[in-house]
Amino acid sequence: MISRVVITKFTRLCTGYNLLPHYSFKLRLNNSTYCLLPNCGGEYCNFQHLLINCPSLSIQRSQLKILFSTSDINFSVIDAPPTDKVNIIKDTLYFILQSGLQI
Ligand SMILES: [Zn+2]
Repeated sequence: MISRVVITKFTRLCTGYNLLPHYSFKLRLNNSTYCLLPNCGGEYCNFQHLLINCPSLSIQRSQLKILFSTSDINFSVIDAPPTDKVNIIKDTLYFILQSGLQI
């Protein structure tokens, strides 16, 4: 079972309609698209940036990769997690929430 809150937040991430800096800038809710996490400064802070590139989440990403591998998913070849596995959706959402950024 997966909660409505998890589905909503995950859908926001996957569609790009969320409160991460890349899209919230378009909504004029902040001043730039840049990543707000320490030691980063990535130009476009969106779901893909946090999932694949953001250096501030490297430790958490390593843990997520392990969780993906236990579900036989090759993390290195994806740009978005598969949506047919509930545990992957929850693990990915938890990974993003660890950033402290609003979704
Ligand atoms: Zn970043």
